[in-house]
Amino acid sequence: MRVSKLPNDPGPAGWNRLLPKRAPASVLATNITADWLVIGAGFAGLAAAHRLSKLAAGDRIVVLDAVRVGEGPAGRNSGFMIDLPHDLNSDDYGGALATDIAQTEDNRIGISHAQQMATEYDLTQEAFTLSGKINAAASARGQAHNDSFAKHLDALGEPYETYSAAQMREITGSDFYQSGLFTAGSAMIQPALFVRGVSAGLRSGGVSIFENSPVIKLARHGDWVATTPQGQVSAPRVILAVNGHLNSFGYLRGRLMHVFTYASMSRALRADEIAQLGGQAIWGITPADPMGTTVRRISGIGGDRIIVRNRFTFDPSMEVSQARIESVAQDHDRAFKARFPMLSNVEMEFRWGGRLCLSWNGVQVIDQLDEGLFAACCQNGLGTAKGTFAGGLAADMALGRSSPSLERALASKKPRRLPPNPIARLGAHFRLKTQERAAGREL
Ligand SMILES: Cc1cc2nc3c(=O)[nH]c(=O)nc-3n(C[C@H](O)[C@H](O)[C@H](O)COP(=O)(O)OP(=O)(O)OC[C@H]3O[C@@H](n4cnc5c(N)ncnc54)[C@H](O)[C@@H]3O)c2cc1C
Repeated sequence: MRVSKLPNDPGPAGWNRLLPKRAPASVLATNITADWLVIGAGFAGLAAAHRLSKLAAGDRIVVLDAVRVGEGPAGRNSGFMIDLPHDLNSDDYGGALATDIAQTEDNRIGISHAQQMATEYDLTQEAFTLSGKINAAASARGQAHNDSFAKHLDALGEPYETYSAAQMREITGSDFYQSGLFTAGSAMIQPALFVRGVSAGLRSGGVSIFENSPVIKLARHGDWVATTPQGQVSAPRVILAVNGHLNSFGYLRGRLMHVFTYASMSRALRADEIAQLGGQAIWGITPADPMGTTVRRISGIGGDRIIVRNRFTFDPSMEVSQARIESVAQDHDRAFKARFPMLSNVEMEFRWGGRLCLSWNGVQVIDQLDEGLFAACCQNGLGTAKGTFAGGLAADMALGRSSPSLERALASKKPRRLPPNPIARLGAHFRLKTQERAAGREL
C-alpha cells in the first residue's frame, strides 16, 4: 500500500529549539532486514521499541520516523502526562465511572512505563518529573467544572487538594485564577528532552532509529517491506505507531478525527521580569474547562519561559496553513496578557501547531490489523500517557503476551464511523466554536 500523506508539522517546535544542536539525522539509505519494525518515533513508537528491547532482547529492532525525534507531535505538546480521566469531549473531563476507573489504570501504566524509561536512561527532572498538576478555574463556570470533577474524583476514591485564589497567586504569580484542584498522580515532561533522551537510550541499547526517513510504501511479500525514499526495511512484524496517520496507511478511514491544537512559548524572561512576575519557578496548570488555556512556567534549559496552549480546530486534511498559526497567535497573546499583565513587554518567541487524533467514541486503536501488523494509535489528545501505554501494549500483543489491559483493549469498541466529511467538518466546527465561546474567561 502506498502511504497517501506524510506528516506536516507547522511552525517551529519550541521545546526542541531550546535543546542543544545534535548530530545530523541518521537517514535510512540502504536495504536492511530486522526482526521488528516500529513506524513512528513518538510516545507510542518509542514505548513499543523499549518494551521489545526488554522482552525480545537480542532481536534486531528498527524504528523509522518521517521527521527528527522531537520535531513531531511528541515534541510539540504541553507535556502533561495525565493519570486521571481527561476526556476532552466532556465538560469536566469525567465520564462513566467504570470507564474512568479503567482509563486511570491504563494511564498509570503508561506513566509508570515512562518513569521506568526516564530512570533507566538517566533523564533529568526537567525531562520527566512526577509533579502532579493543577486544574485551574478563572470564573464561576470554571469553578463549577472543578466542583463537578471533584465529585467524579470522590466517586473514584481519588484524593485531591483544593487551592484558594491566594494559593494560586503564590504558585503562578497571577491574580487571574479563582481556585485550583491539585491531584498528585500526573507527570510533567519537557517533551522534546524526554523523547530525545529515550531515543538516545534506546540507541545505546542497540535499537536502530532512522529519522527523516518517511515510509512511503508498506507491502507484504512474505515479510513486510517498508519503503522510504532511499531504502527499505524488511521485517516479519511491524508496529504502526503513527497516531492519526494510520489513515494514510489505509486503515480506519472515516473513523478518526484529525484535530490541531496550538501553542506559543515566550522568549526567556529577564531577571527583573521574573521578579515582577513572582510565584514559583516551575508549575503547570490545565484549564478547568477542557476548552480553556493550558499554561506552564518552566525554568531550565533555555531559561525561564511561559508556554500557553489553546484552541482546537478540526482539520481532516491533517494540515494547517501558516495563516492559521498566525490567527491563533492572537488567542495566545490575549490569554497571556489576561494572565500576566505585569509581563506586557514579553513577546512570544516560538509559535506552532500539532496534530491530535481522536475517535468519536473516545477509544484508542490498539489492535492487530493484519498478519504481523499491529497498531498503537489514536491517543485521543492525551498521547504522552496513552501513547506510551498503547506502544507497550501493542508490543505485548505482538509478542503474544496477555494482560487485563490488553484484553480490555482488544474487547473495546472500534472507533465509531464519522458522518461524511462535509457534515463532520461542519458539525465539528460548530461544536468547537460553541464550546470555545462558552469557555469564556477560561480560554
Ligand atoms: C500543542 C499541543 C499540546 C499538547 N499537549 C498535550 C499534553 O499536555 N498531554 C498529552 O498527553 N498530550 C498532549 N498533546 C497530544 C500529544 O502530543 C499526542 O497525543 C502524542 O504526541 C501522540 O503520540 P503518538 O506517539 O501516538 O503519536 P506522535 O507523537 O504523533 O508520533 C507519531 C510519529 O509518526 C511519524 N509518522 C507519521 N507518518 C509516518 C510515515 N509515513 N513514516 C514514518 N513516520 C511517520 C510522525 O512523524 C510522528 O513522529 C498535545 C499536542 C499538541 C500539538
